[in-house]
Amino acid sequence: MPDQTEQPTDSANNADWAQAGRPPRIAIVGAGMSGIAACVKLEKAGYSDVTLFEKADRVGGTWRENTYPGLSCDIPSRWYCFSFALKAQWSHRYSYGPEIQAYMESVAQTFGVTQKTRFNTAVTDLQYLNGQWQLTTERNEVMTFDIIISATGILHKPAYPAIDGLDTFAGHSFHSARWDHSVDIRDKRVGVIGTGSTACQIVGAITPQVKKMLVFQRTPQWMMALPQIEYSKRWNAMMERFPSLQKLSYHYYMQLMATTFAAGTVGNKTVQRLIHWACRKHLRESVADDALRERLTPNYQAACKRLIFCSDFYPAISSDNAALITERIENIESTGVRTTDGTLHELDVLVLATGFDPGAFILPTRVRGENGVDLETRWAGAPRAHRAVALPDFPNFWMLEGPTGPVGNISLITITEYQVDYVISMLNKMKAEGLSAIKVKSTACENYNASMRQGIKNTIWFTGGCDSWYFDASGLPNLYPFKPTRYLKDMRHPDYSEYELIR
Ligand code: NAP
Repeated sequence: MPDQTEQPTDSANNADWAQAGRPPRIAIVGAGMSGIAACVKLEKAGYSDVTLFEKADRVGGTWRENTYPGLSCDIPSRWYCFSFALKAQWSHRYSYGPEIQAYMESVAQTFGVTQKTRFNTAVTDLQYLNGQWQLTTERNEVMTFDIIISATGILHKPAYPAIDGLDTFAGHSFHSARWDHSVDIRDKRVGVIGTGSTACQIVGAITPQVKKMLVFQRTPQWMMALPQIEYSKRWNAMMERFPSLQKLSYHYYMQLMATTFAAGTVGNKTVQRLIHWACRKHLRESVADDALRERLTPNYQAACKRLIFCSDFYPAISSDNAALITERIENIESTGVRTTDGTLHELDVLVLATGFDPGAFILPTRVRGENGVDLETRWAGAPRAHRAVALPDFPNFWMLEGPTGPVGNISLITITEYQVDYVISMLNKMKAEGLSAIKVKSTACENYNASMRQGIKNTIWFTGGCDSWYFDASGLPNLYPFKPTRYLKDMRHPDYSEYELIR
């Protein structure tokens, strides 16, 4: 990788790459799933002056960061993959974390993404100056780029619970996304705080190995059984032999999820009732103990929080060495967790499966757009964007998986790929018309978000009677409130009237 360190320049003269007929210099922040997709698709579209900046030493994003036992993806792998790198040899319908991480690394290697990535290089500052973006790294290297693509993911900043005495615990304590593999959990008394998707996978995986499993539940969660299967060699050989079957599976799962879970969350009442019924049935058939079942039963609609798919949790929490603690946590002491009924639950290991800061996106990188407009100030705890990719006052700055995009029980890889194609359309437009900048109009962004605010009130996330990480400081869930297929359709053909096209 050539040394691209530069001093800040008055770059007004060379800012117009499209007019000058040179390729744009593109920086991608983050080499996770979105960064990989962006790099590959840009290259295919003829944009090869691309540098990825990755804070860690490997690609993979969430699949690199999370290594907890039981880590898996509850979206079928035949869909949770890049459309340009379908894979025949998945071991299971729902792959485990290490297999997905290996896939990410292999795609990055095969398509030349690894070679374009500056590892161990966190971007600390981005500033729009004189028609270009000035990028500063943690080592104070300063470079200029024409285009910035933020591919930092959504849930990358662990949320630590504000519980008194957390730092006084004398045993081993770590966040689920910072799993300490040096700690041998076998025959230990392990406590898990949280009952989200992560906690359920951890509890399901390690309960048989530990001496005692205590799950501290603040809110019960609805969950559906995970219809896991291991693919046979013969089946995968057939997939290998007939690549069209891989394509067929990709689209089959996409349609299935779009017409079922996605439709249910955004207002289809019949599907909602079916999801609720399936969750109740799963609970009833999995937990024989009436009292335990009662304490595991949520008082809100299924899919109000992000729906969990897990078949291991109920058997695990029902086992003799496990206990569900529903009293509130009072504080944490050196030997364990004390609950409000006065009980001290003694532990050797405490796992904080307490989720992530959902409002981070590219933050804590400082991002300043035109006239020094600061992104963190602009968002103020309620991040909003235009079509999840663009921000007024931030020209030539694009986000993948930005705020107000479709997330939940769908493949974010598909969403990202459409967003990348959208950005490529913008670059093509700039190139064809000799534009120096494209930025979304404030009115377009406001109109889009007004329709989001209106639409969100019909979704299960708002009406379902729960609290979740989907809600932000505005008091509304920060999600795309319509069918994801509508989003994909809209992203296919950018409406340039929503943008200022600057010569
Ligand atoms: P999460 O869904 O935000 O769950 C955090 C859990 O911690 C909740 O049960 C929460 O309780 C609890 N908690 C937080 N602070 C607490 C406190 N101070 N005291 C007691 N309990 C506390 O986080 P996550 O499970 O890591 O999942 C985050 C997201 O990652 C998921 O929604 C999903 O989008 C994604 N994910 C996906 C997969 C997959 O298979 N595709 C797997 C794992 C994660 P409350 O419910 O009361 O807030």
